[in-house]
Amino acid sequence: MKIRYRLTLLFSIIVASIVLIFSFITYVLYADYRNDEFYKRLKDKAQTTARLLADVKEVDKDLLRIIDQNTINELYKEKVIIYDKNNDLIYSSIDDEVISINAKLFDKVRTKKYIEYIEKENEVIGMHYLENGADYIVFVSAFDKYGKKKLENLMYFLTVSSLISVLITIGAGAFFSKRAIDPIIEINNQVSTITIDNISSRVKTEGSKDEIDQLAKNFNQMLDRIESSFKIQKSFINNASHELRTPLAVINSQLDVALSQKREKEEYVTILKSLQEDARKMTNLVNTMLVLAKSEEQQSSILKDVIRVDELILSVQDELLSLYPHYTVDFSYISMPDNDSDMTIEGNELLLRSAFMNLIENACKFSRNHQAKVRINSDDTLLTILIYDNGIGIPEEDISRIFDPFYRADNGRQVKGFGIGLSITKRAVDLHKGRIIVKSQLNAGSTFTLIFKHL
Ligand code: ADP
Repeated sequence: MKIRYRLTLLFSIIVASIVLIFSFITYVLYADYRNDEFYKRLKDKAQTTARLLADVKEVDKDLLRIIDQNTINELYKEKVIIYDKNNDLIYSSIDDEVISINAKLFDKVRTKKYIEYIEKENEVIGMHYLENGADYIVFVSAFDKYGKKKLENLMYFLTVSSLISVLITIGAGAFFSKRAIDPIIEINNQVSTITIDNISSRVKTEGSKDEIDQLAKNFNQMLDRIESSFKIQKSFINNASHELRTPLAVINSQLDVALSQKREKEEYVTILKSLQEDARKMTNLVNTMLVLAKSEEQQSSILKDVIRVDELILSVQDELLSLYPHYTVDFSYISMPDNDSDMTIEGNELLLRSAFMNLIENACKFSRNHQAKVRINSDDTLLTILIYDNGIGIPEEDISRIFDPFYRADNGRQVKGFGIGLSITKRAVDLHKGRIIVKSQLNAGSTFTLIFKHL
């Protein structure tokens, strides 16, 4: 069932139940009041008539006439009957109404003193009157024509007004739920038209700051993120294929040249070494791209290793120096850690290894002396690693962009590279909820500072 209809139904059921409950309570209370009030009138009548009879010693025709004149027409279909203590009739009002009396009834009135009951449509009271030396049993019956008519009218009024209010509620419910749901339907329609081909389209927002407007805004923000990651992926694939094509073209032309004629053994060795270098670079590129793709997919599950950062850096240093023996890495502690946990963080070893490898390798390859300096320090909560060099530095205008995939500053283009290492480093640091800060001065050197929370 559509939300709109569900809301209308729910709203109508709630209001209808409230109206019905209140109508029922009103009816019952009024009926009860009418009942009480009418019996009270019958009781008054019984008392007045009995008192009148008790005030005189002898019952004669004149007295009966006076009593009837005093009492007639006060109540509709009224009948008053009075018996003395021997259950002999001493007074019966002059009208056609009848009250069926039997011996049981006399006993009941005598024991209970006062009874109420209904005979046919009339209400009846029976009373034992014991005043001024009189001992009477009085029965009064009457039909509450006006009270019952009023009750009937009330019933009619309550039924009609309940019905009208339920109808109004259904109408109002349908109207307001349509108004409430319409903006959602509108958003739904707009969303359904957004596909990968028009991913830059956005849902219209009203600026009303209500929940639906907030939903539209959030949806647009989500589209912003999807669009930007979609664009990054697209440019990543473009750049990656371009970067792979270049070394492949170089490898092909080197192979063509090598095979074009017979050569000396040394020449083949030189060509093979150059091919090996290109192949290794391509392998590195593909490996790092895989690490990056993996880190995008499985953010939470990959950060489970317990890593001694100083030991990891020393292992990176060993690996780097075995690949490039002419590089030097100067590693030292700013202050010796008090305990193991000061140097330990939880995360992914592969990602952190690739981050440190990129930074230390960059420091070596972008400096003339091919030297990187690494310093490590920890305080109560944070572990700080500085990687710096006295190399070519980074132009100020490029500093903000060096973490973009495949971005390379102009002053470093003669140095081999793909421009992807720092984007992986940044991603790795972000995944570890760390921070990376770059300070650099052209032709003086660069410092990369990494800050993590240790255990
Ligand atoms: P690559 O080193 O393969 O070019 P990176 O993503 O590691 O790719 O670095 C991106 C760019 O940042 C480099 O091309 C270079 O211009 C600049 N850069 C990074 N580290 C340094 C550094 N230590 N000194 C000077 N420039 C650097």
